[in-house]
Amino acid sequence: MAIFAVVGAGLSGITLARELQRAGHRCQIFEKSRGRGGRLATRRREGWQADHGAQYFTVRDAAFETEVQHWLEQGWVSHWQPKLGVIERGEAVESPDDQARYVGSPTMNAMVHGMSEGIDLYTKTRIDRLERVENQWRLWDDSGEQYGLFDAILLTAPLAQSLALLPSGSRLEVPLRRTTMLPTWAVAMAFEQPTGIEFDGVFTKEGVISWAARDSSKPGREPEPEVWVMHFTAQWTANHLDAREDLMQQQCLTMLRKLAPKDLPPMVDSFKHRWLYARTGPAHAEIQQWDAENNLGLAGDWTIGDRLEDAWLSAMRLSKAVQQAWS
Ligand SMILES: Cc1cc2nc3c(=O)[nH]c(=O)nc-3n(C[C@H](O)[C@H](O)[C@H](O)COP(=O)(O)OP(=O)(O)OC[C@H]3O[C@@H](n4cnc5c(N)ncnc54)[C@H](O)[C@@H]3O)c2cc1C
Repeated sequence: MAIFAVVGAGLSGITLARELQRAGHRCQIFEKSRGRGGRLATRRREGWQADHGAQYFTVRDAAFETEVQHWLEQGWVSHWQPKLGVIERGEAVESPDDQARYVGSPTMNAMVHGMSEGIDLYTKTRIDRLERVENQWRLWDDSGEQYGLFDAILLTAPLAQSLALLPSGSRLEVPLRRTTMLPTWAVAMAFEQPTGIEFDGVFTKEGVISWAARDSSKPGREPEPEVWVMHFTAQWTANHLDAREDLMQQQCLTMLRKLAPKDLPPMVDSFKHRWLYARTGPAHAEIQQWDAENNLGLAGDWTIGDRLEDAWLSAMRLSKAVQQAWS
């Protein structure tokens, strides 16, 4: 049996720890935030809630499909069948896209909670530095506390945060410098009455907003008040990292007005959230996940793609490599 430190309690970190514990090893997870789930995030407000990170997920891989079936059986996720639109040349038309979409229920991180049982998790612990101690590792957090010793360190934080922790000289480091992650501003709004908008989800191919969703149409959510979540494009976000909430609200309302059949009802509450590392950028290098010389591993959506499914697949791949190293 070996003992591993996992940095990050998103889907990839929790999946990795669960797999390694199933194989008879011990894991401790360190998470900088108060809760688990990472970019699978739902914020609760007074009388309403909204998913401001990942909006839904899709399934392509057969092994992931089996996993999702288990999540469905546990009641951690549900099918979401939105009526989808697309805005092109100023017009909203129905989208022909009919692929199956799933959401965590009642919150996006429900499956992460479900899978965390029996896992040793330190929250509010931002790992700041890794120290090699003979052939093991010690971790330091940003308040100077130390943890360890561990047989391997498995980093599942987004690219820039993992890169900042990787010791120089690790062979994992080089391709990371050729990959990027892009930011996204999210704005959520609750309305006093129904908006009458025909679509539950809208992709836009023009303007500064790339996606809008009626969050309250997702299964497991209260249908009232009606809640909308809008995501701004990566380019606009990158150019407006300090954008004011009222400015973004105006842009969201202008877009929703184009979709609504009548005047929008009053907005009762709203919040914004900036994701500095939302999705993987277009330049993507092949990333090696396991450094056997240093006993260091990498997982996370960005190591193979940019979707929730990639986060899960990357954790399963790294778990296999680590299990082989200790077999
Ligand atoms: C706006 C937005 C929209 C998205 N839409 C979709 C979508 O529609 N469909 C889809 O499939 N995917 C979508 N995604 C992507 C999806 O959310 C991710 O693929 C998935 O959640 C990644 O999981 P992860 O475990 O790899 O990383 P994360 O969820 O980012 O987890 C990493 C964790 O590491 C923690 N961490 C970072 N640094 C440290 C440190 N130094 N010490 C301790 N902890 C640390 C973070 O707090 C975080 O909890 C979206 C993401 C965003 C932000």
